[in-house]
Amino acid sequence: MSAAPAFPGLLEEMTTQDIQAFDPEVVVLPLGSTEPHGPHLPMGTDCYQVTRLCHLAVRAANENSARVLLYPTLPITNNANFRRFRFALRVGIRTLMQMLIDIVTQCRDDGIRKVVFVNGHGGNPATLDATLREIAGMDDMPFVCWTWGAWPEGVASPIEHASDHGGEDETSRMLWIRPDLVRSDKLANNPFGQLRIARLKEQTHFVRPWHLYVPESAGGEARESSAQKGQVILETKAGELGDLLVELSETPWDERFPYV
Ligand SMILES: [Zn+2]
Repeated sequence: MSAAPAFPGLLEEMTTQDIQAFDPEVVVLPLGSTEPHGPHLPMGTDCYQVTRLCHLAVRAANENSARVLLYPTLPITNNANFRRFRFALRVGIRTLMQMLIDIVTQCRDDGIRKVVFVNGHGGNPATLDATLREIAGMDDMPFVCWTWGAWPEGVASPIEHASDHGGEDETSRMLWIRPDLVRSDKLANNPFGQLRIARLKEQTHFVRPWHLYVPESAGGEARESSAQKGQVILETKAGELGDLLVELSETPWDERFPYV
């Protein structure tokens, strides 16, 4: 029996010869996080989710003749707002920015002109936006974009209780990906902290101290989560992401990219 990666493009399972033959066109870098997700979900929740999303999307894209190389998931990213919780792993804003710039520079040196960051953690968007601006100001860098993975227009979400951390959505995803790690006896409707000044949420941006915003380190109704909901969410998002990756792979790069 001859060994092979689980699917073409899964960098950590490829050999030098596999990569030579594959001739990658696009690099995907998943960004996870290792942080508290309430009494019911594991610290690695963001990593498990974004890794599964990227596996599904890259596999589908490459089966559709794309040439997308999937990097290993970054397990430690920005978590300044979680610092009151023990073992919310984090690097600073400037550190993450420099890591991403270094990784994109390595992509450029290895002949890649298109890089996609797939983000799985809510603490990262401001840094991702700033990093893309920084890269845009540098000469001869690849095209770089970032995404959460889009939800297709007009498709209803199976999630009935929205939450931005450790609620029905994330719990459902984990029930599909790693049910053995979900503490089902700990599922609850976890409280959110209430603001003294409602206009702050409506009219401003500020960094929420998460020990005040989600005191249990997860918020919202998680008791109606299901593996089936999690599968629908991840497969639907992976479908959209896979289609984007096919187009990025097929569209030739030149100095006007991504414009006509
Ligand atoms: Zn999460």
